Amino acid sequence: MGRYTGPVCKLCRREGQKLFLKGQKCYTEKCPVERRGYPPGQHGPAQARRRKQSDYALQLREKQKVKRMYGLQEQQFRNLFRKAAERPGITGENLLVSLETRLDNVLFRLGLAASRSQARQLVRHRHVAVNGRVVDIPSYHVRTGDDIAVKNKSKDLAVIQGSLESRTRPDLVEWLALDEKARVGRVLRTPTRDDIPMSVQEQLIVELYSK
Ligand code: SF4
Repeated sequence: MGRYTGPVCKLCRREGQKLFLKGQKCYTEKCPVERRGYPPGQHGPAQARRRKQSDYALQLREKQKVKRMYGLQEQQFRNLFRKAAERPGITGENLLVSLETRLDNVLFRLGLAASRSQARQLVRHRHVAVNGRVVDIPSYHVRTGDDIAVKNKSKDLAVIQGSLESRTRPDLVEWLALDEKARVGRVLRTPTRDDIPMSVQEQLIVELYSK
C-alpha cells in the first residue's frame, strides 16, 4: 500500500492546525502552522480569507484531518469506515476506536514512538511483538489483554529511549498500561470515545461517506 512521502508540514497547514506529524521536531523546530497560518500553495492566503465553507468542504476537511493524523491512505480509511458502519453502535465512534487500536497508534500512545510514522517504522522493521510473536503489520488491531513488547535486542534503540524521555510523549491513556523499564505495554480494555483525546467531529466524516 503506497503512502504519502511528501512534506508533512504542508498537511498541517492545509488543515489549519498542528497535527504533530514530525514527533519531537514539532516542539523543537519552528512550526510552519504558527509562522504561516494559511493553506499551502499560490492561492493559500486567498483561501484563508474566504469566510464561509460549504458543508461538503467542512466534511472533507474533517475526514482529511483524521486520515492524515493516523497516516492512512484513502482506500485504507474507506475500508475502515465500511467495517465501522457494519458493526453495531455509532459508526463515527466505531471508526475512531478502530483507528486507536491500530498497533502503530498504540505504540505512539504508549510513548514508545514519538509519532505514528515512527511507530509504523518500528513495526515494519520487526522490533515489536504482540503476545510474544513478532508483528510487522502497522494496521494490526490489538485487543483487550494483549501485551505489546519491544523485542529484547531493540529495547535500547535511541528512538525508543528518546521518545520515552521527550516532551512529545503523550499522556498515557487510561485503556493502556506501560512497564517503561521492560518496554512492555498492555491493553487494559477497548477504548471508548471519551478515551480518545482528539477534537474531531467524526459525525462529519459519516455524513461525507454517506452521500
Ligand atoms: Fe505539523 Fe509538526 Fe510540521 Fe508543525 S512542525 S506543521 S505540527 S508536522
